[in-house]
Amino acid sequence: MKRFDLRKNDTVVVKTGKDKGTVGKVLKVLPDKGRIIVEKAHFVKEFIRPDRSKNIQGGIMEKEAPFEASNVMLYCSGCARGVRFRHKRLDDGTKIRTCAKCDSPLEKTK
Ligand SMILES: [Zn+2]
Repeated sequence: MKRFDLRKNDTVVVKTGKDKGTVGKVLKVLPDKGRIIVEKAHFVKEFIRPDRSKNIQGGIMEKEAPFEASNVMLYCSGCARGVRFRHKRLDDGTKIRTCAKCDSPLEKTK
């Protein structure tokens, strides 16, 4: 399995498949499987059984399914595209990821 460094809430762009070009937020990271779930990408249909006791109506739901983390790149708003990133250590010791092209930080600022 390839190592990857994506985290929840990262903005990524899908590089392959039918959702190519989709920009979305990482909703979940499954490091053991090398997979991620990305907002608005890789929808699958799921059949929901009606369940009266839980007040579930049933029917077909669309939801995001996990897919290979290697199919996305981190999205850089400066470059307006998916980019490779570098690791950088700040003076205070914090490790951040920066865009390999324009060098802007790709971490979400809180
Ligand atoms: Zn950039």
